[in-house]
Amino acid sequence: MRNVGGFIVGQGSLERLPAFVDARRELVGGGAKVVYLIDSYFANQPAIVARLSARTSDVVRYVDATHEPTTDGIDAITNELRGLLTGLPATIVGFGGGTTMDTAKAVANLLTNTGGAADYQGWDLVKVAAVHKIAVPTISGTGSEATRTCVMTNAKTGLKLGMNSDYTIFDQMVLDPDLTASVPRDQYFYTGMDAYIHCIEALAGSYRNAVGDAYSRETVNLCRQVFLADDMMSAEAREQLMVASYLGGCAIATSYVGLVHPFSAGLSVVLGLHHCIANCIALNALSEFYPAEHAEFQTMMTKQKVSLPVGVCANLSDEQYQRLVAATVVHAKPLTNALGPNFRDVLTDERVTEIFRRM
Ligand code: ZN
Repeated sequence: MRNVGGFIVGQGSLERLPAFVDARRELVGGGAKVVYLIDSYFANQPAIVARLSARTSDVVRYVDATHEPTTDGIDAITNELRGLLTGLPATIVGFGGGTTMDTAKAVANLLTNTGGAADYQGWDLVKVAAVHKIAVPTISGTGSEATRTCVMTNAKTGLKLGMNSDYTIFDQMVLDPDLTASVPRDQYFYTGMDAYIHCIEALAGSYRNAVGDAYSRETVNLCRQVFLADDMMSAEAREQLMVASYLGGCAIATSYVGLVHPFSAGLSVVLGLHHCIANCIALNALSEFYPAEHAEFQTMMTKQKVSLPVGVCANLSDEQYQRLVAATVVHAKPLTNALGPNFRDVLTDERVTEIFRRM
């Protein structure tokens, strides 16, 4: 398994970003531009954006993170950048959450390969090495900074699948916990729990390996230190969660999730709920499969005074329940990891519907 090429971690490490970027400019030479893909959340925060030290000749493009990336959206950004660049950029800086980082990864692959995003949904389809890219996460949990994929939905086929490739992995990563200080508490909790959930699912599964287990165990340890602490957003806790997010991404790159993510995917596909909050709602309804983890999750929510929306699946039509079931049981690999190849003996349509009704 390949890892991120290099990283810097600690409060204030964003200050080092311009030096990393300039080193790339020098290496490439010829006045190559740098592309900054920035979460649109920062569009009205000029003080933070100024710290990136983009030159006026560089390309600064805000990424709307309201919805997770689509193949059409990725193609549109790639074509826009092609029009603004002459040749390849020296590097692409992805500054934001999972959506922004996944966008940076996908665009970096497409700038050096022909065709569109949908052509590369799958495993090891990217032929030519991607443009150099640097991850600067501004929220912790999804592990996008670590993984060899970038989540994208193809609106035409409904296929939600990334470009799984070693070329998708970031070359460099800047982990500055100062950047997560202003994240709303609920969002910080839900997103951070993604790292915890990835790893409790992996550790409960049957597709295991010693390296993945080690990453998972330490991720869960760090999440416990963060979410069972008095203040999950202290400077120390924010740094721990950044590291947990990265290690959780490494864990999931070598293993599989279990039951929570398939149910969460159902909520996202049918009801449009965001990945991280959907995971929390799903785990909350799956206590019979993950009793100890469910109890710990409840303790963490109480300790941090975070609550979940209730009744998200109340008053749905039969047709909506059928779609929820279909969008859940389609995830054969993680469900097999959790329950074995005959997972449908356990997850009958009635049982899955009953679990959704609890949410
Ligand atoms: Zn996840």
